Amino acid sequence: MWINVSQQLKTSIGTIRNYEVSEIVNVASGKSMVQGEVGLIRTDRSILAKGTLHTEVEVTCSRCLSLFSCPLTLNIEEEYFPITDVVSGASLPLPEEPGCFTIDEHHVIDLTEAIRQYVLLAIPMKPLCRGDCAGLCPNCGHNLNQGPCDCSPQETDPRWSVLSKLTLASDAVVNKRKGME
Ligand SMILES: [Zn+2]
Ligand SMILES: [Zn+2]
Repeated sequence: MWINVSQQLKTSIGTIRNYEVSEIVNVASGKSMVQGEVGLIRTDRSILAKGTLHTEVEVTCSRCLSLFSCPLTLNIEEEYFPITDVVSGASLPLPEEPGCFTIDEHHVIDLTEAIRQYVLLAIPMKPLCRGDCAGLCPNCGHNLNQGPCDCSPQETDPRWSVLSKLTLASDAVVNKRKGME
């Protein structure tokens, strides 16, 4: 999303302009529609982009391995530094911060890269299709959200029980198992 801020760079500090965001952004998992509102605030050295955006990305449930659409809220707050003085056209020194966002020589801000980075940060490390996802049967691999399978707990193949312990290792269940051993 491109916004020309040449007029706003000439305004006084504290001036705010609001923009509707409705944009398809390419993230790791594919294209996502991003919507919301961003305010651009003129500061003494930059334009501060601040706002709340909403999107959904396709992710894989860490428990049952099914694909689902995960809603994300992005609280964007990024400063954009001009590389050219809007009045004189002279080059401006950039702040030391590595990877800071810039306003190009045509006084245009590109919000897309910031949105892409915020989406990647907002995706949960262990996504769950729902809070009480039942996961997969460690014996036959059946998705237990679709109902029970025909396996009885006693018939669990010993080769799989090692795997099931691994899957449970991150859950609170592991404590219970320890207590039983
Ligand atoms: Zn799941
Ligand atoms: Zn089963």
